[in-house]
Amino acid sequence: MTGSAPSRRESLISDSGFAMRSWVEISLGTIRANYRAVRAAVNGEAEIMPVVKADAYRHGAAEVSRALEAEGAPWLAVSNVEEGVALRQAGIRTRILVMADFLPADRDALREFALTPVIHSLADVPLASEDYHLKIDTGMGRLGTRAAPDEIVRAVASGSGRMEGLMTHFASAGNYATPQTTEQIARFETILAALHTAGLAPRYVHSSASFPVAYGRREAWGNLVRPGYSIYGYVSSARGPAPAPVLSVKPALTWKAAVLAVKELEAGSLIGYGGMHRAEKPMRIAILAAGYADGIPHRLSNRGSVIAKGTIAPIVGAVSMDLTTIDVTTCPELNPGDAVTLIGSETNAARSTVRIDAEQIAKTAGTIAYSVLCGISARVKRIFVD
Ligand SMILES: *Cc1c(COP(=O)(O)O)cnc(C)c1O
Repeated sequence: MTGSAPSRRESLISDSGFAMRSWVEISLGTIRANYRAVRAAVNGEAEIMPVVKADAYRHGAAEVSRALEAEGAPWLAVSNVEEGVALRQAGIRTRILVMADFLPADRDALREFALTPVIHSLADVPLASEDYHLKIDTGMGRLGTRAAPDEIVRAVASGSGRMEGLMTHFASAGNYATPQTTEQIARFETILAALHTAGLAPRYVHSSASFPVAYGRREAWGNLVRPGYSIYGYVSSARGPAPAPVLSVKPALTWKAAVLAVKELEAGSLIGYGGMHRAEKPMRIAILAAGYADGIPHRLSNRGSVIAKGTIAPIVGAVSMDLTTIDVTTCPELNPGDAVTLIGSETNAARSTVRIDAEQIAKTAGTIAYSVLCGISARVKRIFVD
């Protein structure tokens, strides 16, 4: 394979008119199927509020929200007012909950765009003139009020807005070896009971992200659940004495990069910044048109791998800003202009399917899969498929 370089294949062209160097394919059909799987798992016992914050974990908030709305989702959850406004401007008409607090300058936009705020402090209750959800810090130690039940009852009773929802968030929902979730549920129930006694029962009670849904922890659901990760097709593994998951979903995102060049190196050659990798024997390498500026974790340097022509190809040397080098010594059929898979699956000539998902990448990179997905940068083009 030495000698003249193979000619480049035709590459994909993005909307901007340029060849695609790195792109993600989002299957909206898979998002919809995942939503239906969540609906089957909650079996009518709770309504579903898919979480589409952070650009739907980089899957594309507007497109994902439209797909979920078409599937019948009554609510969507975002982090901030700007994300909520963007969904309204994209034509989304479901209820929208703004979860991660708002700053005073955004108060008017909440009303103007019919977004429902979460209030995290009793001092803000008198300022709410419309429906709001109140967040209780039951032990997460992040946003939410830690006030006593009677203080909460008093504040809610005297506010001019309506407390439509009461919510909390679990710190360790995936860990069955700690009593933290049980304790959080107990605190939440105490406050809920005090509100009921005072005749202030909220219409919605919610505390569960993906984990308690995926593992069927019914007592944690309330009557509304807030799944994010599982809508995108992932269920994390639990710690401790957990039951088997009851939810089966599929990753909706596939991440690809184009091969810019393929070449042969002699034994002893160094690869990339710092000469981090040394070729022990003659080697064939491919240079990919994506690097850490696209979201490939730098920690994958000399450790991660991609799928090239249905086989695992290790990342060699440092992941650099715009380029990543892989070892394709055992993959002679890969040529410039071909695409490799960073996240997703390929079936090879021997008809076996090779898969890499965000959880494997996270494990290798010493991070969490959420961060890998959210880290796919804006430079990476997006294609929506069925
Ligand atoms: C992000 C978030 C969720 C969704 O969490 P997943 O683990 O992705 O399902 C739910 N509730 C709150 C408050 C969140 O911040």
